[in-house]
Amino acid sequence: MKHDTIIVGGGFAGLAAATYLGRARRRVLVLDTGRPRNRFSVASHGFLGQDGRGPMDILGDARNQLGSYPTVEIAHDEAVAAQRLDAGFKVDLANGKRISAPTLILAFGLQDTLPEIPGLSDRWGNSVLHCPYCHGFEFSDRQLGVLYRTEMSIHQAQLITEWGPTTLFLNGHTLAKEHLDALNQRHVRIEADIVAALNGSGTDLSSIALDGGREVAIEALYIAPQSSLSSPLANQLGANITETVMGPVIDTDDTKMTSVPGLFAAGDIARAPHSVSWAVGDGVTAGTAVHRALVFG
Ligand SMILES: Cc1cc2nc3c(=O)[nH]c(=O)nc-3n(C[C@H](O)[C@H](O)[C@H](O)COP(=O)(O)OP(=O)(O)OC[C@H]3O[C@@H](n4cnc5c(N)ncnc54)[C@H](O)[C@@H]3O)c2cc1C
Repeated sequence: MKHDTIIVGGGFAGLAAATYLGRARRRVLVLDTGRPRNRFSVASHGFLGQDGRGPMDILGDARNQLGSYPTVEIAHDEAVAAQRLDAGFKVDLANGKRISAPTLILAFGLQDTLPEIPGLSDRWGNSVLHCPYCHGFEFSDRQLGVLYRTEMSIHQAQLITEWGPTTLFLNGHTLAKEHLDALNQRHVRIEADIVAALNGSGTDLSSIALDGGREVAIEALYIAPQSSLSSPLANQLGANITETVMGPVIDTDDTKMTSVPGLFAAGDIARAPHSVSWAVGDGVTAGTAVHRALVFG
């Protein structure tokens, strides 16, 4: 086999794993289609030393720095299928090539399905948000909204009041009295009507239009997206996966090894909650664990 490990996904987790394996002088192939989950955001926040930089700029620098490690190869290719071998794994690429390695790291990230409301997807990652720790500070003390999706939205609305006055848009759902009381205690305002559209210039949000024509001034709207694995590879390889309120999580041990020996998973697909910092940390854990597996078997 030409490679010691194949990494499927060259986002934050995949490139962190590749960095540690490259420093250990191991032969690594990173396959990447170049679509990290936060690519819609102009700025990424909360990652030490990189606060406010564009996510693609951070990843671009990481790729450039990996260029100085002669055993690391990054290919713009999509892994479409994978199979276990007696010793290792075989991966099929969209370009028809087939490659194999004794170890495999899955780091292909999650994809999000957004509610189909006019003007919502255009603002995703900029004024339509999922994580207050990532983007909340920039909207401090502005008029904030939360779109009801599941019971988790009640918790989300209570939390968002930490950043500014908050309105929960029920979008036609009804709430039990105990939930209304809890929201009232945190001074969350309630709008019961169906949300018709989001308005504003460019990716900015200025108001939310309700059925019937009324508009509510809102500058950032929080939603809980529906997340799914970006690739079927983990299922094909028979790895155990748990469904959580934050989406699917591939089960891993403390070293980020999955239920399949020699198969590791890192980043958003193997944890909840999610962030760049956590993805990088998990990538480092998987990279060093793969190195030890290669040395000690
Ligand atoms: C809108 C938005 C904004 C966010 N903002 C922030 C923020 O400000 N701060 C923060 O800390 N976190 C933020 N996050 C969370 C952050 O994006 C994720 O935690 C992080 O990207 C996870 O890294 P990852 O490596 O697991 O996956 P990703 O970064 O999503 O990378 C996965 C990579 O795998 C590639 N890939 C997928 N399938 C295949 C395949 N079959 N073959 C080859 N390659 C494949 C993809 O193209 C992609 O490049 C945000 C998330 C969203 C949705």
